[in-house]
Amino acid sequence: MFRRIKGQEQPVELLSKAIENDRIAQAYLFHGCDGIGKFMSALYFGMAVNCVAINQLKPCGICPSCHKFLNLEHPDFVYIFPTPNLELSLDGEIKKAEARKQYEEYLQNKIKSPWQEFFFKESTEIRKENISYLAKRLELSIHEAKYRIVIIENADLMNQATANAFLKTLEEPPPNTIIMLITERLQMILPTILSRTQPIFFRPLTRRVIEDILIDQFEIGETTAKTAAKISAGNLKTAIRIASESDSIIRNWAFDILDKADKQDDLGFGTLMDKYKEQQKKDQISDLLKYVRILAADITELVMNPESDITNVDRLEYLQNTANNSKLSEDKLYDFLLFLEDLNRKIQGNANLGLVMINLYIKLKNLLHGKA
Ligand SMILES: [Zn+2]
Repeated sequence: MFRRIKGQEQPVELLSKAIENDRIAQAYLFHGCDGIGKFMSALYFGMAVNCVAINQLKPCGICPSCHKFLNLEHPDFVYIFPTPNLELSLDGEIKKAEARKQYEEYLQNKIKSPWQEFFFKESTEIRKENISYLAKRLELSIHEAKYRIVIIENADLMNQATANAFLKTLEEPPPNTIIMLITERLQMILPTILSRTQPIFFRPLTRRVIEDILIDQFEIGETTAKTAAKISAGNLKTAIRIASESDSIIRNWAFDILDKADKQDDLGFGTLMDKYKEQQKKDQISDLLKYVRILAADITELVMNPESDITNVDRLEYLQNTANNSKLSEDKLYDFLLFLEDLNRKIQGNANLGLVMINLYIKLKNLLHGKA
């Protein structure tokens, strides 16, 4: 099953070798950006060391032990992640009904569609009570596993007091227990914690790997997969979201804006703002900017060389026409990309989104028609 983790050959090899040579560390720190397989690698590693299959590649994914891990309900598995205040009892029971409901929904989402973000209603962190509960669990003996497995996701979201409490656990880990910390922000992990773990770096996935996953596992068409992979910056979660959800709408929106800018149809742009009024939230506009960036890059490439291998191959003829009418150059494209980055920063910083859209339209119009 380890082979299911695509594009992370190095970490997978390292973990497999650790099992093979019986040199398993007590604590690991899996780091690298979001959406690249850190959690799955941690879970599969926990499964592999406990898998009871004979004569099979481990983890097998079907033996009783693997099965319990895949359902996140193995009695020797402790899974900790940032939550709102759950009002945990000392036995790890969630007292607040609403919090328990959300907690269970989180787990179900993690089991069924781990690529989908789950948002709690309240703000979340790794809480001291979770760490106290962990310490208590580790004092008890192991039920049935060979190794007890602890996964702490977003381990950077611990405040100082919680991190210090956790450090105590990490300093004297019980035998046959593997603790795996996961983080996107290595720099936020306390050096004292860092020094007691074996760090394993996960790289962003290559475009090719993301394209293949989208096509093979999610049955997404080649063009969409290609675009989504390009936009995702190596993050599979982003790629899946773009490819499956708002993809076609936001992509169409980008093409529509391009069209109005190309025709210098200001009134038409006004009607677009109305047509896409449901697609004007922060994240959507941020995605839109990414599409516009790729469209501008495609057009520039076609200006340079009509035989270019562009991203939006399905709209080649249209883009070629736009390219023929435009006065785009690489220099101008570069300025435009900087402008888009700046615009994106403004969006993240709560700029007026209506103004952002108008700026985008004007700049795009100038880009295609040769003004500064
Ligand atoms: Zn198994």
